[in-house]
Amino acid sequence: MIVAGLNHRDLVWAMRTEDDCIAWLRANCLLAVSQQCPCCATAMKESPTSQHGKVWQCPTTDCCHCHSIRKGSFFDCSPLPLIKLVDFIYWWSVKMRNTYIESEVVISHVEIYQGLIIQAEAGYC
Ligand SMILES: [Zn+2]
Repeated sequence: MIVAGLNHRDLVWAMRTEDDCIAWLRANCLLAVSQQCPCCATAMKESPTSQHGKVWQCPTTDCCHCHSIRKGSFFDCSPLPLIKLVDFIYWWSVKMRNTYIESEVVISHVEIYQGLIIQAEAGYC
């Protein structure tokens, strides 16, 4: 496993911003580093959105197809920010109690269960 031996301090240091988090996930093969437009096969470009997150956008003016950078990844269906998801997964993987995870990740139990339900419906759980 690539991230074996990673502790929470390493994780926080590696993911100071959402962009850092995206770079780390890509370096660990958890997010795509490039995308080809499913409509016209043109190489897509990454663009920021007005909401949190980024999208892959087709630069072809006749097409303009776009989708989340999460598409096709484990994080595809979750509405939570990537940093919170990675933090949540870290604490869950070391078997922390949900109340502790909620406090450390600054996430409500409703967000946790919504995220898990969405993941389960997508077939990831
Ligand atoms: Zn296209």
